[in-house]
Amino acid sequence: AATRELVLGRIRDVPDHPKPGVVFKDITPLLADPEAFTALTDWFAGLCVRHGATKVVGLEARGFILAAPVAVSAGLGFVPVRKAGKLPGATLGQAYDLEYGSAEIEVHAEDLAAGDRVMVIDDVLATGGTAGASLELIRRAGAEVAGVAVLMELGFLGGRARLETALGGAPLDAL
Ligand code: 5GP
Repeated sequence: AATRELVLGRIRDVPDHPKPGVVFKDITPLLADPEAFTALTDWFAGLCVRHGATKVVGLEARGFILAAPVAVSAGLGFVPVRKAGKLPGATLGQAYDLEYGSAEIEVHAEDLAAGDRVMVIDDVLATGGTAGASLELIRRAGAEVAGVAVLMELGFLGGRARLETALGGAPLDAL
């Protein structure tokens, strides 16, 4: 409960960003506060241990910032899931639908393998499209899903329900 207050108290609501009618959850005040950032990292790392993760996936770009210290703190490898076209090696790719159009994310195929149990970390779960595509990638790489953990879940967008099949019983935790 103390972690919740400390961390969520450092999220800034920015109205009409990136377009009119959207209230953007800005995590930069949290990142600038070492006490809050550490508390959040500890919360994520505890979930990695509880769910038996062996690797941590961070989703570009804010997920990178949050997941990297978690990986170091929990003693686990960090694997970036990037927007298509950024990773230099052999990749697996997964397309997913956006409100208008579609997007694609990629992971280096050699970074995930059978025997890995992967925790996906991001800042915000909105529609669940990004997280869902990352779970597909993890399974297609032959690895298992340990869980998805996010700082904030925007419940009114229905991401949790949309992720149910992709989660396949794995936990979805939101602070
Ligand atoms: P989804 O795929 O669930 O619709 O969108 C989630 C992705 O969009 C996440 O990678 C997240 O970083 C970003 N996102 C969507 N809305 C917000 C927001 O209000 N604040 C922040 N920080 N990220 C958001």
